[in-house]
Amino acid sequence: MRQGLYNVISNESVARGVYRLRLEGSTRALARAGQFADIRIDGVYLRRPFSVADWDDEGFVILYKVVGEGTRALAGARPGHSLDVILGLGNGFDETISRAPLLIGGGVGAPPLYALAKRFIGIGIKPVALLGFASRCDIILADELRALDCRVMVTLESEGERVTDRLDEASADRDRFYACGPEGMLRAVKRQCGLPGQLSLETRMACGVGLCRGCTCMTLTGGKRVCVEGPVFDKEALAW
Ligand SMILES: Cc1cc2nc3c(=O)[nH]c(=O)nc-3n(C[C@H](O)[C@H](O)[C@H](O)COP(=O)(O)OP(=O)(O)OC[C@H]3O[C@@H](n4cnc5c(N)ncnc54)[C@H](O)[C@@H]3O)c2cc1C
Repeated sequence: MRQGLYNVISNESVARGVYRLRLEGSTRALARAGQFADIRIDGVYLRRPFSVADWDDEGFVILYKVVGEGTRALAGARPGHSLDVILGLGNGFDETISRAPLLIGGGVGAPPLYALAKRFIGIGIKPVALLGFASRCDIILADELRALDCRVMVTLESEGERVTDRLDEASADRDRFYACGPEGMLRAVKRQCGLPGQLSLETRMACGVGLCRGCTCMTLTGGKRVCVEGPVFDKEALAW
């Protein structure tokens, strides 16, 4: 984990209410896709956590949806501003345990799956991605995943379809799933998908570094802090 100032390189709208923020600074603290950044936002109490969507030696990218005061203020960050960030938090996904991964994303749960897809592609494995959004203007990362050479399936609630409607089709010939999205979607995927899998929880959190225990979730071996022992949990471990 590393705390430091990161320079805003760009912060652009990419879908309805969703922004892509690129920050410049050390990424040595990042080891795995699925880890997150906790960002201090001027005038807002408590940092806000966001999954890292992509990174290189110069910096990293998050995609975030404007839902409240913190993300509204973040959307105003301009190149030349700097942000205080704690980077490299959480455990992240394990890409060494699958040869035929299925990535399942709901809305702004998709960003960490882009970083994960890049890791798989880097070791010669092509994932299948199943992404669900409310409507066409909410779609993010589908084209970018196709550009990586992933097979991408998109479901739109506005057209009466959810990711769970295409889960059986998407899981055929896959050996493991990796999912991130709203808790309702994750619970449905856990119930319905016969594959083993890992789920990244986006539980609201306060301190982000394991001290306050405000983000504890129940597992079969007791309460675990989503910010430290998570946000990624094995399907079998969650007491859902
Ligand atoms: C590990 C982790 C990774 C995340 N990654 C991303 C990401 O990549 N992109 C992204 O857009 N968001 C992500 N989130 C959610 C993001 O942190 C919240 O949307 C953000 O903190 C909201 O801040 P705010 O001040 O704008 O909203 P607030 O004013 O704090 O809240 C506004 C509304 O959003 C709801 N809300 C706030 N946080 C959450 C949450 N975590 N889950 C569900 N509802 C919430 C509140 O209940 C309220 O109704 C992630 C959360 C976690 C814990």
